[in-house]
Amino acid sequence: MACCHYYAPQEGGDEAFSIDSSSIVFGNGVLAEAGDHVRSLGIGRVAVITDKGLSASPHPARVLRAMKEAGIEVTLYDEARVEPTDESFLAAARFATEAKVDGFLSIGGGSVIDTCKAANLYSCYPADFLTYVNAPIGGGQPVPGPLKPHIACPTTSGTGSECTGIAIFDLLAMKAKTGIVSRRLRPTLALVDPRTTATLPDRVVAASAFDVLSHALESYTAIPYSRRKAPGRPNLRPMSQGANPWSDLGCREALRILGTYIVRAVSDASDSEAREQLMWAATLAGIAFGNAGCHAPHGMSYSVSGLVRDFCPAGYPQAEPIVPHGMSVIVNAPSVFRFTAPACPDRHLAGAEWLGADVRGAGNDDAGEVLSGQIVSLMKATEIPNGLTGVGYTAEDIPALTEGSYPQRRLLGNAPREISREALSGLFQDAMAYW
Ligand SMILES: [Zn+2]
Repeated sequence: MACCHYYAPQEGGDEAFSIDSSSIVFGNGVLAEAGDHVRSLGIGRVAVITDKGLSASPHPARVLRAMKEAGIEVTLYDEARVEPTDESFLAAARFATEAKVDGFLSIGGGSVIDTCKAANLYSCYPADFLTYVNAPIGGGQPVPGPLKPHIACPTTSGTGSECTGIAIFDLLAMKAKTGIVSRRLRPTLALVDPRTTATLPDRVVAASAFDVLSHALESYTAIPYSRRKAPGRPNLRPMSQGANPWSDLGCREALRILGTYIVRAVSDASDSEAREQLMWAATLAGIAFGNAGCHAPHGMSYSVSGLVRDFCPAGYPQAEPIVPHGMSVIVNAPSVFRFTAPACPDRHLAGAEWLGADVRGAGNDDAGEVLSGQIVSLMKATEIPNGLTGVGYTAEDIPALTEGSYPQRRLLGNAPREISREALSGLFQDAMAYW
């Protein structure tokens, strides 16, 4: 096994890692199978959750047709919000409670799938909203028991939410992004149909592909599970357990696929091979980060998206400013990987090589620069904004960006190097512009 020294036993460290995954059905046209899958899960009445933008597209219609053919009773909710909030989660939960369904089907991007997880949770186990939200913002209470079956159908090749037990939202009162994390939230089945990405705008494909890229690189370079303190009880082993040999497999293949296909998939919507491969990479990286956890680029992304002022990217609804999730992550990534490379240079070099960099002659001291350089060249080739200035920030914003992200311990603590407040501020500084 490559890099096995990375998992060398450590005094007081965990000696085991766990593997969790949704069941997955992957292939062109699988949305048409939805009715049979719903029925085999014993669901007679299903809540279909989507968003307004998507409900005008053919994908939910295909699912609804499949339900009708299978004789499943359907109640539709198309009010899921892009970039969900505590309010939009609660609205979906109220709907789910009143709808009295046996199970859920979500069809959309990560926001829709996360909304469905929350609706399932709060309709099964009603509680004050903050009860299950990550500490220290929320109570961090465990989900009391199993949820109702949930079939997740992603329509963007990015978040991997269909494979994870994570639901992310904006807590409006605190202007903070946070989440609910539990194995119980993981969808029962992911129906992944690459054809849904054929009509996506190229900007959406680019942002979500870089989200995948960062999921894979962050999981691969995360702190090794063997260095994380052993849990008091086996059941307390966190989902963000650090890099491990299982997640490494998915990361490696996802990065190889991205190195080959990312530019093709963004620049040519008719390149169905490239878009299908990106969907597969998103699935692999979703399984990987669902078992390893992300680190600093995602931790920093929370304030990059949360403090947005006036950035309105092409390809997204223009009603309000937004830094799309993948963009808010990747603008930090070259800066972070320069910083983390000394902790595990061979892993950074391997990542660069899988992404297509020429690493001949590169030594450990070059690892951060080589990986960052390769990410930057892919960003340029796909017209991703040039760092934080590219999405509307200036050096004056660094203190606010730092304060907004520093509390994200679940993520920052999963990085292979300790990140102090000063170091975090330096990472934002280095992320201002790359070319
Ligand atoms: Zn992400």
